[in-house]
Amino acid sequence: MRKGNIGVTTENIFPIIKKFLYSDHEIFLRELVSNAVDASQKLKTLDSIGEFKGELGDLTVQVKLDKENKTITISDHGIGLTSEEVDKYINQIAFSGANDFLEKYKDDANAIIGHFGLGFYSAFMVAKQVDIISKSHLEGAKAVKWSCDGSPEYTLEETEKAERGTDIVLHIDDESIEFLEEERLSGLLHKYCSFLPIPVAFGFKKEWKDGKQVVTTELNIINDTAPLWTRTPSELKDEDYIAFYKKLYPMSDDPLFWIHLNVDYPFNLTGILYFPKVKTNIDLSKNKIQLYCNQVYVTDSVEGIVPDFLTLLHGVIDSPDIPLNVSRSYLQSDSNVKKISSYITKKVSDRLQSIFKNDRQGFEEKWNDIKLFINYGMLTQEDFFDRAKNYALFNDTDNKFYTYEEYQTLVKENQTDKDGTLVYLYATNKEEQYSFIEAAQNKGYNVLVMDGQLDVALINQLEQKFEKTRFTRVDADVVDNLIVKDDQLKDTLEPSKSEILTTTFKSQLPKLNKLEFSVMTQAMGNNNSPVIITQSEYMRRMKEMASIQTGMNFYGEMPDMFNVVLNSDHELIKQVLADSEKATAAEISPIEKELNEVDARNQVLELEMKDKKEEEIDTVLKDESKEISEKRAQLKAQKDTVFATYASKNKIVRQLIDLALLQNNMLKGQALNDFVKRSIELI
Ligand code: ADP
Repeated sequence: MRKGNIGVTTENIFPIIKKFLYSDHEIFLRELVSNAVDASQKLKTLDSIGEFKGELGDLTVQVKLDKENKTITISDHGIGLTSEEVDKYINQIAFSGANDFLEKYKDDANAIIGHFGLGFYSAFMVAKQVDIISKSHLEGAKAVKWSCDGSPEYTLEETEKAERGTDIVLHIDDESIEFLEEERLSGLLHKYCSFLPIPVAFGFKKEWKDGKQVVTTELNIINDTAPLWTRTPSELKDEDYIAFYKKLYPMSDDPLFWIHLNVDYPFNLTGILYFPKVKTNIDLSKNKIQLYCNQVYVTDSVEGIVPDFLTLLHGVIDSPDIPLNVSRSYLQSDSNVKKISSYITKKVSDRLQSIFKNDRQGFEEKWNDIKLFINYGMLTQEDFFDRAKNYALFNDTDNKFYTYEEYQTLVKENQTDKDGTLVYLYATNKEEQYSFIEAAQNKGYNVLVMDGQLDVALINQLEQKFEKTRFTRVDADVVDNLIVKDDQLKDTLEPSKSEILTTTFKSQLPKLNKLEFSVMTQAMGNNNSPVIITQSEYMRRMKEMASIQTGMNFYGEMPDMFNVVLNSDHELIKQVLADSEKATAAEISPIEKELNEVDARNQVLELEMKDKKEEEIDTVLKDESKEISEKRAQLKAQKDTVFATYASKNKIVRQLIDLALLQNNMLKGQALNDFVKRSIELI
């Protein structure tokens, strides 16, 4: 027997392992099982090139749990280690610049393990003593036993071992007894080892017999050694892909479609990406793409490796070329990783393009499920936008689908305004904006449905990308003003009559928090509604952007501003005007008379003060001017009160306002109740 010190320049490696790798203790199993798999594969390779003369036999790797003795043993029948090899690979770990490195990456266990080739030593995260009992495949090799209790000292001695291969025995320490639970261990094997290329057995299969669970003699193989992504796409059927998906994400709906990735130049990458059917946002974040390295599970945070928008997809990516054991920031600057990312983008896009081309109807049927991914990609990735613009779809209120180009051709003729700007009309809610949609359609316009989570942002992007194109929501204005052409209808009402109407209606509009109305009249033809409420596209959009973007608080704080447009062509509006004029005439005319006098005097004063500097104006003049404007305001207020008093008794005014509010989904609570009561009375 021989004793020695492990060749580490740092005082003692084990406290470091335990301390720094604290959060990721469970990966010891991944490291040891994949070492065992590697050793088995190496032997297979030697065998295939004729350098191994013995019998390969069964290469199954076994993980054994002994709760009583508090050990976990990982056994393989791979190449094994000679005593020289133990010395070389286990005892002499190169530790250059260890302290600096540990300091830098202390929170990133993977980085540390990768850097030091510490795979095997991760065993000390959970074990107080580790034994290696190994017999090399080399002819005449003697079995060796290496043992170490977590201090830098080890022992190495000859031992007896019948079979070729290596047993790693972990004597689990008291803080890590969780790993002695069968469930826990089985969960970890499932997570990290499900697709390893050599069979891995955990204990024996269990069977139900006479109402009891009994252990059989058949090994319990926990992995699939030839997972779908390693197989040839042409040999696989849809059922295979769907079955594999269900294996990865047991509770999920069938995927919409998938992409089998397979590259070997300029980097190695295989995998299958699935477009999931997303029901809720929760589904999106729950299931993730899994990253493998030669069939060993590494992580399910693939940010940096696949483009952001594709992290929403499901499936697996396997690449030995992704530097797995380095920090995230390094990943993002790695040129291989960049190539992989753009390769995946291109592949996904090609696949979408081909589905679109070969099965347009199927593509349209899936559009609502995939538009989130596509729009997200278009918004965040320039190169993806350029590809996707050829198959991204618009959906109109009749549920017809158009590509961007098709749609432009469709509306160009009828929806170009007098300045040559193409106006795309859209609705965000087919039900709520029904009357506006109908009005637009009656005018021969087409209306898009833009009700997706990303549509506000997409609209902004498309306005920048498309030439001379503007998006306007159908309720942004009365239909005649949505697309301003030369044959505009003019407001034919005299200003004084217009004023009577607007003041009358304004006085009866509800006073709502953070909501402002401005009232105007317009001749819209007697077939149109008497009162229409619209909201300016610009203001509404700024507010919407403010709600999803930071740094736009200013707009978020603004009240919602609506326009109330009175249709001066409508019989009811005409009636209100006539009534109001008649009912208020007696009270209004003396006020008007006074107002006229005040205005006349005001004009004289203004003429006198014109072109004079503040200090040159006579104080008497100034005082009078001030007095006059006060008087004017007072008279205006008096007038408003007269109209308001009249309006408050006019049921038609209230009724028309409420109907318009109702049409915009703005009539609620008590106001709605009052409206219903009033309507009944009117009947
Ligand atoms: P890495 O696997 O990254 O090289 P490890 O610390 O896990 O680092 O292993 C060091 C070396 O020890 C391996 O490269 C391999 O040569 C040898 N080794 C580890 N486990 C086994 C095993 N089960 N059978 C044979 N050799 C092994």
